[in-house]
Amino acid sequence: MSRYVLPNLPYAYDALKPYISEEQLKIHLQKHHQAYVNGANAILEKLEKARREGTDLDMRATLKELSFNISGHFLHSMFWNNLAPPGKGGGNPSGKIAEVINNEFGSFERFKKEFNQAAVSVEGSGWAVLVFEKEVKKPMIMQVEKHNMNVYPGWKLLVLDVFEHAYYIDYKNERARFVEAFWNIVNWEEVNNRLEEVLR
Ligand code: MN
Repeated sequence: MSRYVLPNLPYAYDALKPYISEEQLKIHLQKHHQAYVNGANAILEKLEKARREGTDLDMRATLKELSFNISGHFLHSMFWNNLAPPGKGGGNPSGKIAEVINNEFGSFERFKKEFNQAAVSVEGSGWAVLVFEKEVKKPMIMQVEKHNMNVYPGWKLLVLDVFEHAYYIDYKNERARFVEAFWNIVNWEEVNNRLEEVLR
């Protein structure tokens, strides 16, 4: 029976210092992300059991919980991979993603400003996300409220978790400081890889 598993980080727990501390990163991955993995697996088991026994489930509640946990797992997995230790990450984007951002937003600074505003203002367990919308061939900034997206479109390029559990140990209630720090550890190489996949 195949199950969801917590991914390994592509860097050490203390590698994102001083922007994300070891303690903050550990608790986020090992407690919060793990909870989504466990939650998704529990629903899979519940579905399998109901099918085996021929019983009914409250599909509305079950599927809502399933999408919440799976989307949480997907988003967190993307998040870890679009971060990189300072030095390797951060700075200005280059390559195709730089071109795409400049064409749409006019400059990286303008894009950053809009993305920050999205990240600071999204409600609750929210995310700021840079996507590429293939139909109009444009990068767009989206706010994801909660994790209930139900779908996992392949066009997400860059995600930022701004639920309090992502930053509270390091930044307390100052989400804007965390959002600003994020730019020092963005893995633009990974963002470029994702964009390449979308454009393929
Ligand atoms: Mn999170």
